[in-house]
Amino acid sequence: MSSAQADTGEDGLLEVLRARIRRDGPMPVEAYMQACLADPEHGYWRQAAGTIGADGDFITAPEISQVFGELIGLWCGVVWQSMGRPAGVHLIELGPGRGTLLRDGLRAGRAVPGFLQAAAVHLVEISAPLREMQRQALAPFSRSRRPAQDPAAGLPGVVGPRLRGDDVEWHERLGEVPPGPAIIIGNEFLDALPIRQLVFAAGAWRERVVELDGQEKLRFGLGATVDRPEADWADTAPPPDAILELRAGESELIAELAGRQAPVAALLIDYGPAEAGYGETLQAVRRHAYGDPLATPGSADLTAHVQFGRLARQARAAGLAVDGPITQAEFLGALGAAERAARLMAANPAEAGSIETGVQRLLSPAGMGQLFKAMVIRSPDLPPPAPFG
Ligand code: SAH
Repeated sequence: MSSAQADTGEDGLLEVLRARIRRDGPMPVEAYMQACLADPEHGYWRQAAGTIGADGDFITAPEISQVFGELIGLWCGVVWQSMGRPAGVHLIELGPGRGTLLRDGLRAGRAVPGFLQAAAVHLVEISAPLREMQRQALAPFSRSRRPAQDPAAGLPGVVGPRLRGDDVEWHERLGEVPPGPAIIIGNEFLDALPIRQLVFAAGAWRERVVELDGQEKLRFGLGATVDRPEADWADTAPPPDAILELRAGESELIAELAGRQAPVAALLIDYGPAEAGYGETLQAVRRHAYGDPLATPGSADLTAHVQFGRLARQARAAGLAVDGPITQAEFLGALGAAERAARLMAANPAEAGSIETGVQRLLSPAGMGQLFKAMVIRSPDLPPPAPFG
């Protein structure tokens, strides 16, 4: 996207939001975030294709090292084995970005006999430009793709078994995936779903809103009083000005998982604390720099932490089993990230330095190793998957 286009998009949404606030009054943070990310015309994910990667707004684990997707692909194959190798399994990715995780994962998953032939891939994605990138990334694994049309057919690593389905299928929501055994992956998916913020002010919880100041600039404010939220786990009163963040998308995911027929296993990797707590985590990222979440609606990525402790409690209350959360370093380390990196380095000495740097970034506490967590939500009758079992 050219900067001229970006500026038009930005002002476009800002104007739409101003008009809406003038007409309807201050809008809850959740509605603001929903508009910024998913407004059909101006939303960040609707327009953005070049957002993820070293030259985009932010970078994610699968874009840093192929080891990430490879280990998760093998993990999926082993989970499929633990389900009793069903002849058909839905392999579902939530928010697949550029499709890199699954491309690396399917390549590695070929080592598990029969897994690819049993798997039908479903991608839950709202971004049209990213869907196109995903189509290209996964084309070598689709049955419908004839070798003659396949520019990647001659490359090493793309010959071999293909997926069960004729092609990858796309969905707007997880609920659209047909019934049947399912393995679900979501890396940095939940953080991209809108949150609601409640503020504890003068002894009561109030909705945090976005309003206009005297100069028509967006600013945060306090809206209506709300009942004590269910997710307020504290026995004593929260501290003054405590902020509680609630994400409807997490509750919806759990309801979907609980409603699916067994077996189902979902691996969720994201950033956020293992223990439930208060605090504001809404952040805007553009060109690898943090910014003001109200400054450029629609043209910065808006995210908030995933509260893994609360997510785990909700999942258990819905009758599901939970493994973890553990840190990304523990998860990838136990699955053999260092060993896989060493093999890649031995096979590609010229790239050994960048392979090592990439894996270090995934594992180190100063990089993504500590803040990022991995958690599995699954049917209770499945055994705990590696590395939890
Ligand atoms: N998993 C990828 C991308 C993470 S970015 C990676 O690790 O690189 C978040 C992804 O979720 C993007 O693909 C974005 O388009 C998608 N997304 C955002 N909101 C969504 C929604 N409401 N439903 C489905 N996908 C969504």
